[in-house]
Amino acid sequence: PYHKILVAYDGSEHGKQALAAALDLVDHDMANRIIVLHVVATHRGVEPMLEAGSMMAASDTEAFEDNDAAAVAQEIAAITKDFKDIVEVMMRVGTPRREIVHVAEAHECDLIVMGSRGLGAVMSMLGSVSSAVLAESEVPVLVMR
Ligand code: ATP
Ligand code: MG
Ligand code: MG
Repeated sequence: PYHKILVAYDGSEHGKQALAAALDLVDHDMANRIIVLHVVATHRGVEPMLEAGSMMAASDTEAFEDNDAAAVAQEIAAITKDFKDIVEVMMRVGTPRREIVHVAEAHECDLIVMGSRGLGAVMSMLGSVSSAVLAESEVPVLVMR
C-alpha cells in the first residue's frame, strides 16, 4: 500500500474526486495515511515560473479563487469524518503548485492525488496547478479527470 498520500484540495468538483479516490484507496487497504492540503494563494494575477526546466506557461488564476479557508477546512473535515485517525488536514499560504510539491516531498508522501482541473474559469484539459505539479514533482502524481 501507499504509505502516505497527499491530496491537493481546492474545493472544486475535481478536488472532491481526488479526495474520494484517496479515501477509496484507504478503504481497499491500498493506502495508510492521507494529508489533505489546501493552499490559500497569495499572489495576484500573473506569476512567473521560476523553476528551471518547467515548460509551463506563466499565468495562473488562483487569485480569483477566493475560497474561505475556514469553510474549506470544515468541508474537508466533513468529507473525511470517518477517517479521522488517518487523515491530517493541512492549510498553507503560498503558491499552490510550489506548496503541493514541497509538502509532498517534505512529508515523504509516495503519491500525490489531484484533479485535472479546479476552480479556474478557463476551460483546458489540464489546469495550471496540475500541469506544474506534473512537471516538477519527484513524487508520482495521480490526476483525476
Ligand atoms: P487554473 O487554476 O489554471 O485556472 P483550474 O483551476 O481549472 O485552472 P488547477 O488550479 O490546476 O485547475 O486545479 C487542478 C487541481 O489542482 C485541483 O483539482 C486540485 O487538486 C489542485 N489545486 C488547485 N489549486 C489548489 C489549491 N489552492 N490548494 C490545493 N490544491 C489545489
Ligand atoms: Mg490555477
Ligand atoms: Mg485553479
